Amino acid sequence: MSLRNVLGQQKAVEILLNEVKNNNIKHSYIFYGIKGIGKKFTAFQFAKSILCNNTKDGLSCDICDICNKIDERIHPDVVLVDFDFQQQLFGKKEATSISIDTIRYIKEISILTSYEGGYKIFIIDQAETLQKEAANSLLKLLEEPPQKCVFILVVSMLGALPKTVISRCELIKFFPLNNLILKQISKNEICKESMFGSIEEIDFIKKVPQNFKFENINEIQQMIDNLPQDKDFIKYFFIRLTEDFIFNKYNCCEDHNKFLEEIEFFLKNFRYNIEYKLLLETFLLRYNTLCNSD
Ligand SMILES: [Zn+2]
Repeated sequence: MSLRNVLGQQKAVEILLNEVKNNNIKHSYIFYGIKGIGKKFTAFQFAKSILCNNTKDGLSCDICDICNKIDERIHPDVVLVDFDFQQQLFGKKEATSISIDTIRYIKEISILTSYEGGYKIFIIDQAETLQKEAANSLLKLLEEPPQKCVFILVVSMLGALPKTVISRCELIKFFPLNNLILKQISKNEICKESMFGSIEEIDFIKKVPQNFKFENINEIQQMIDNLPQDKDFIKYFFIRLTEDFIFNKYNCCEDHNKFLEEIEFFLKNFRYNIEYKLLLETFLLRYNTLCNSD
């Protein structure tokens, strides 16, 4: 399991992969979005991308000792700070918030050299529950971060974090998984089809056109002709378009709701239809009318 196995979070994955590839890893991140959409999972995959010595295009190898240790959550330089961690440290039972003692402890170990010579990564789960003094203490740490430390705050309610903390971090937004993804997951079709952001075809990201606004059908056809002539790519592109619609364009009006239903129909057809270019063309025409007409 690497970043490529993160479902439905292309934007987040794309940003993180680029930072690893460009050796542009930040001191502090906030992964925010509703619960249960893979923020913590992504944080661990990101940690592997940062620490693995055999990465390819930013993706961890998943077979080396470092990757294995992180997967088993026993890597000494990747610390998950959550209520369990806090309980083990201080023996306090059923914590509902992260205390200043915990942050002080993190501060102490963050200035020590890492065990394996690379980065030290702290994943702070439910960071919105930081007590006031804890948040202030963390802020000081983020203002003057120790060398080679990465802090990842996992948050489901961004508004609950102090603005001062937010302003110190790179914000990585995680989107709700749409019904289509959830259906695929429940039908266990994700692995087979590698659809919906499972990013089996991670290099496709680079080839996806950025502009989906068209003046007429000729422009649409032209763009389709210029796409890599590979059904897997077209399928990937198609999924990106549906996600773009659902996450960025959808505004709950009647037409858009109808289009959501049509998307299901398109998807079904896409799986069986050999004329996938024609299908994409039809889809883009609909998409363009709905999303780009003023
Ligand atoms: Zn590895």
